[in-house]
Order: sequence, then C-alpha cells, then structure tokens
Amino acid sequence: MGVRAIIQNTIYFDGVRIEKNGLLGNSGFGLEIAKTSFNIGRLGISIASMGVIKRVSQLMCRYAERRNLSTGYLSDNTNFREQLYSNFQSLFALETFITFLGNQIDRGISVHDDFFNLLKMICPELAYTAVDNGMQIIGARGYIETNCIPQLSRDVRLFRIFEGSTEALGDSLGRSYIRYNSDAMPHLLVKTLNANDLLEELEELKSEIIVIIGDVDDSRIYIKYADLVGYACIFAVNRIISSDVQNTGLSWAEKRYKKHYYELKQ
Ligand SMILES: Cc1cc2nc3c(=O)[nH]c(=O)nc-3n(C[C@H](O)[C@H](O)[C@H](O)COP(=O)(O)OP(=O)(O)OC[C@H]3O[C@@H](n4cnc5c(N)ncnc54)[C@H](O)[C@@H]3O)c2cc1C
Repeated sequence: MGVRAIIQNTIYFDGVRIEKNGLLGNSGFGLEIAKTSFNIGRLGISIASMGVIKRVSQLMCRYAERRNLSTGYLSDNTNFREQLYSNFQSLFALETFITFLGNQIDRGISVHDDFFNLLKMICPELAYTAVDNGMQIIGARGYIETNCIPQLSRDVRLFRIFEGSTEALGDSLGRSYIRYNSDAMPHLLVKTLNANDLLEELEELKSEIIVIIGDVDDSRIYIKYADLVGYACIFAVNRIISSDVQNTGLSWAEKRYKKHYYELKQ
C-alpha cells in the first residue's frame, strides 16, 4: 500500500551454520539485541511521526493561505485554525518528551523499554489523524495523486501497524500494569519523572478497574490504560520542562491525560 521502497521478502534458513565470530553479542543474550533494535525502531517511528505532522501542517497552510472560500480565506477559518493549532500542540508536547528521552540516552542513562513502547503507541495514532485531517482541509486536491497527501497517508498508515501494532503494544503494556503489577509504572513515573501524584492517581484507578472487571481478560481496558500511562508520562515530562501553564505543550498534555483518565474512570 505504501513505503514502496521497502521490499518485502521471505528469508529461509536451511541448515545454516554460524561461526562464533558471526554471533551478534553473546550466546543466550539475543533477546537483548532484539529489544535494543525494537527500542531504536520505535523511537525512530515516533520521531518520523513528528515529521509527518510538521509536513502535513505545512501543506495545509500552503493550501489554506491561497484558498478563497465564500466566507474568506480558509487560513482565517476557525475550524482550520483549530486543527492546525492541535497539530502544533501535540508537536510541542511530544518533541519535549522525545528530546527528554534523547538527552537521557546521550548522557548514557538507561531508558526504560516502556517509554519507547508507549511513544510508539501514541505518536503514529496522532500522525495518522493529522494526515487524515490535513487531507480533509485540502479537499479534493488533497485526495488526488498529483498532491503528495495520498502518499503520506498510505505511508503513515503503516506506522500504526509495524514494529508492534498499537493494540498489541497497548494490550501487552496495559496487561503488565494491571495484571502483573509490573514495577514499570513506579520506575517511569516516580524514579524517572518525579510524578508521585500521577502514580497515586493511576494506582487508585487500577484498583477500581480490577474490582469492576474481576478476572475478565479485557483487552479494551488494557489498551486504554496503557494509553493513559503514556499520556501521564508525556504530561509529567512537560511539567518538568515547564511549569508555565500557558505553555502550549504542557496544557495539551494535561488535557489529553485528563480526557483519557475520565474516559476510563467512566
Ligand atoms: C512494509 C512492512 C515492513 C515490515 N518490515 C518488517 C521488518 O523489517 N522486520 C520485521 O520483523 N517485521 C516487519 N514487518 C512486519 C510487521 O512488524 C508486522 O506486520 C506487525 O508487527 C503486525 O504483525 P502482524 O501483521 O502479524 O499482525 P497480527 O499480529 O496478525 O495483528 C493483526 C491485528 O490484530 C490486533 N492485535 C494483534 N495483537 C493484539 C493483542 N495482543 N491485543 C489486541 N489486539 C491485537 C491488532 O489490531 C493488529 O493490527 C513489516 C510489515 C510491513 C507491512
């Protein structure tokens, strides 16, 4: 459908012998290498998602500044402006989060795997929505192939699927937080982000969820809970970087966190 420069092939290993010097890392520790590769891939996709939101915003502006409707220029239309503003808000908040993680990596600080997984869950969803909204803003000219929006739309669609689909990641993360009491949440929110208040709120909500769902293996709840933890992390990072409530990224992150929190609480 998209990313046509990536060739899809099947590789068969049949009686292949690997010499010791052909091993990646040490024998028995292959999963660590696979995990590192997943983490870098998931971070890369999240960063590319930010690029997609920027590019589609640029194309939206280019069109809206020239398109004169019966009501005036599209660029002055409040619906257009709200969509553009929403793109910028998410960009500010997520770039702050990604920069924070990048700085940790550059300083040699070990970054918890869940940060990459949560980012990969959230960023492609936002990029996909931004491209779809961008196509809507550009109208028929956004749909036809002479414009690059269809290609962007096909390419970004893959982001929600590969390197772990949104649902597979959400199910596994949410399940680990709700069912297996993984120590990841305290690690992410308290040890790394100093957000005891958010951890308390999430733990309380988790107890309420367990009472309601009992032993039912409810994937929808796991996915929603993982999404909420992701937004809690984004909110917490933005709070560390700026305490100014007028800050665009911070206010967006807080609103997204609260929206997901109350949706799940209901
Ligand atoms: C262009 C392209 C390039 C690729 N490149 C690579 C590559 O380089 N290396 C590589 O290893 N793979 C690659 N892949 C494969 C890709 O990683 C997988 O397709 C992806 O992880 C999804 O797995 P799947 O297709 O088997 O979907 P499935 O596992 O069959 O999932 C189908 C759907 O089921 C739902 N689902 C799945 N699991 C759960 C769950 N636990 N809880 C709730 N819902 C769930 C989701 O909605 C998901 O989208 C590539 C794929 C494409 C299309």
